[in-house]
Amino acid sequence: MTEEKKEEIIKKYCTVCGIENNADSEYCNRCGALLSPETAEKKVDESKIIPRTVELVLGILGGIFGIIGGIVILSVGLYSSTILGYGISAIIASIIGMIGASLVVKYPLRGGIILIISGVWLLLSYSAYNLFGTVLLIAAGLLAIIRK
Ligand SMILES: [Zn+2]
Repeated sequence: MTEEKKEEIIKKYCTVCGIENNADSEYCNRCGALLSPETAEKKVDESKIIPRTVELVLGILGGIFGIIGGIVILSVGLYSSTILGYGISAIIASIIGMIGASLVVKYPLRGGIILIISGVWLLLSYSAYNLFGTVLLIAAGLLAIIRK
């Protein structure tokens, strides 16, 4: 009697088709579904992951506007090395912002911090031309950090 009870506890039920399986079997005998508890945990984790599409799109757009702004600065400041420096700085900041945006999907905190840093950096690179890109990058960074 006690042995029978032990067996009942040990047996696993398939989450797909519902039949009983032995605890040591990895796949369901009838339908072949994976029985390991790992998959159940993974499914829960995946459902908890927030899609970071908004942050990604905002960050990439911010980067594109930043690069456009940088090119405009470069063309405006052809005869001034200081302004050329600002243009190059704006383009580098924008590229780093886009890298931050692509990181956000897997690492929201790190990606968000990089986005905000790149936004501030872009703002400091001849801000009048980069305001739109700056706003987008910082918004993407803040969303990535705050949204949970
Ligand atoms: Zn099954």
